[in-house]
Amino acid sequence: MSDSPESKQPILKVAINVPLSREFDYLPATDEPVPAAGSRVVVPFGPRKQVGLVLRHACESSLSPGKIRRCSRVLDEEPVLADPDLRLIRFTSDYYHHPIGEVVAAALPALLRHGNPLHPVVEMIAITNIGEDIDIEALAKRAPKQAELLETLLDAGGNGCEADHLTDILPNWRRVARSLFQKGLILRREEHGANFDETLAPEAEPGPSLNKAQQAALSALRSTDRFCTYLIEGITGSGKTEVYLQRMRDIIDKGKQVLVLAPEIGLTPQLVARLRKRLGIEPALLHSGLTDNERLAAWRAARSGAARLVVGTRSAIFTPLANPGLIIVDEEHDHSFKQQEGLRYSARDLAIVRAKQLDVPAILGTATPTLEMLQHCRNGNYEHIHLPSRAGGAKPPTMRLIDTSRAPVSDGLSEPLADAIRSHLQADGQVLIFLNRRGFAPTLICSSCGHIAGCDRCDSRLTVHAQKGQLRCHHCGLVRPLDTTCTECGETVRPLGEGTERLEDALRERFPGHTITRVDSDSTQGKGSMANVLDQARQGESDILVGTQMLSKGHHFPKLSLVGIVNADQGLFGTDFRSAERMAQSIVQVAGRAGRERRAGEVLIQTAFPQHAFWNTLMNGGYTRVAEEALAEREITRWPPFTRLALIRSAAHQHGDAVRFLEVARRSLAEHCGEALRVLGPVDAPMARKAGRYRAQLLLQSSDRRILHDVLRTLRPLLEEHPTARKVRWSIDVDPIELF
Ligand code: ADP
Ligand code: ZN
Repeated sequence: MSDSPESKQPILKVAINVPLSREFDYLPATDEPVPAAGSRVVVPFGPRKQVGLVLRHACESSLSPGKIRRCSRVLDEEPVLADPDLRLIRFTSDYYHHPIGEVVAAALPALLRHGNPLHPVVEMIAITNIGEDIDIEALAKRAPKQAELLETLLDAGGNGCEADHLTDILPNWRRVARSLFQKGLILRREEHGANFDETLAPEAEPGPSLNKAQQAALSALRSTDRFCTYLIEGITGSGKTEVYLQRMRDIIDKGKQVLVLAPEIGLTPQLVARLRKRLGIEPALLHSGLTDNERLAAWRAARSGAARLVVGTRSAIFTPLANPGLIIVDEEHDHSFKQQEGLRYSARDLAIVRAKQLDVPAILGTATPTLEMLQHCRNGNYEHIHLPSRAGGAKPPTMRLIDTSRAPVSDGLSEPLADAIRSHLQADGQVLIFLNRRGFAPTLICSSCGHIAGCDRCDSRLTVHAQKGQLRCHHCGLVRPLDTTCTECGETVRPLGEGTERLEDALRERFPGHTITRVDSDSTQGKGSMANVLDQARQGESDILVGTQMLSKGHHFPKLSLVGIVNADQGLFGTDFRSAERMAQSIVQVAGRAGRERRAGEVLIQTAFPQHAFWNTLMNGGYTRVAEEALAEREITRWPPFTRLALIRSAAHQHGDAVRFLEVARRSLAEHCGEALRVLGPVDAPMARKAGRYRAQLLLQSSDRRILHDVLRTLRPLLEEHPTARKVRWSIDVDPIELF
């Protein structure tokens, strides 16, 4: 070893956003300080430059010294991610067997991922006082482009416009602006991007005093400030949120930060409003409705500790926290916590991992816990807290089945349900009709030859969207005009079955003079429209709400007294081992919207199979019994949580390519197969063709999590390098929640 200063330079292990499971080695740039772990660097990568993140320093490299390239530039004076953040990233990459560069990319806000500074400088263009006084109409005659720019800036007001925004709307504005600058009509300013403002929050308002069960729950939560996972299982309206609020207060008063993960903030503005109001703290929000600058500002506030409360959806789990004290996952059972593409992580599971790494408590709350979480409680890993009755005196709703094999049904509505709607409306109640299927009808069928309109690119039927006069594929997004006659035989076609649109029409016809609001992803497109619809619903302006799953999540509609569940049978004969669990969750959640205040709630469920054992269990034992029975069954059938699963998926234009790739995987697993590891497949996915690609899958199952991870660890790099991988899109899904 020579003593030249060069040899003392560490080798930087860098994460780069490419689909390869490795770190890349670089030397520091010669003329810059050595970047610490957690800093971003620009590095040469093949013929291009890429933004990378330094994961660690090392003394060794598998490359020969002459081959290691140097970083071009260091982007951060101080690391943007700290050691605990890097630890979570490392865990995520290892556990989900996903390239670490892509995990880093998922953890960073887009602006940072693309190499912008942590405090980006925004170029603002604004009109001056002289500019405001100018006669724009006169200018428009001589120089219309200049007038257009001035007008835009006049509309933007005192702060002016972001230069990037101007480029979007007036591409040549810079040329036009030159003489306006010279004449002093406009000016240029530089600003540091939007900042988080904690002073926005109102005074904290006191809440109700807790009932006995809530007090017991709170004192259980107060037993430690260190790592412990709590599952609060409380029926809808039992006051779970009140309990979290008090625990959050404690932690915040100790000077620590609280991170709350919620399913979709767009759907639950009520939760955010309530936290803000009750804690008197402005939350830093991280969700999909933000601009890149807003997202970065919230992220920065969490990272610096300026935000004491951070509320976000799934990806917020990666937000750095200066001073973490508590992590809460609200509505733990919600599927949106699991990312279903790319890095297929569960934010709920990572929340527990992160709490453990940080040695802070994790609180999960729901009325309908997943069987995975319940089993952890049984095993003594988590502490199970119950809130068995509604807080504040409201009674749980009564539930009743309507047998649609006997009662007359038209357009999806049975007579008994229609009667109940009528009487609740007469008593000035509000009604919610739930059907988890959007569109007018799920099928378009020929009355003569029986041909069904299908998607050209998927193995699926096209859904009728009558209002727009379209047929749409809900799997690939294909849209085409609605057929008026059969494409095969030319005879007349008719829509079969019902979706929310048809139900809405039927309700309008039967209940004229009442306000009917449909809530599904078709009716709530466009920014803010969901919030408006829900506001109307809460204020009782809509008499009847009809909609999908969107309506079931966490809402509190004070006047709502009747919930009708139409076509509840979709899950009774499901092939997925989670069918019963899911169906019970969805029914109990939507039923929980009824009777949350003074009005007694009633829930009517239409089914053609009232004798089915599922109904008996749910009606007599509630979610708890359904969960107990499902757990017992899974223990016998060896499904999760009694075994662990990983699914390898592949998709290709040629069916053979998709299958061949998985056969390669299967062969490399062969030596491990046996008692400890079951490998099932390759088989076609339940919908074998989607968006023009054939899809196949290989399921790995083991009762020993370590074995599963060991084999995936060796398998992943093999598959990345294998020639058959070039023809397919493939992924590894650890703990999949959809088996297709
Ligand atoms: P959950 O989160 O379990 O659905 P919430 O905390 O939202 O329940 O409470 C449901 C309703 O009951 C809310 O309107 C809340 O203000 C009210 N509430 C909660 N706890 C109490 C209590 N101890 N006394 C009176 N009202 C309460
Ligand atoms: Zn399709």
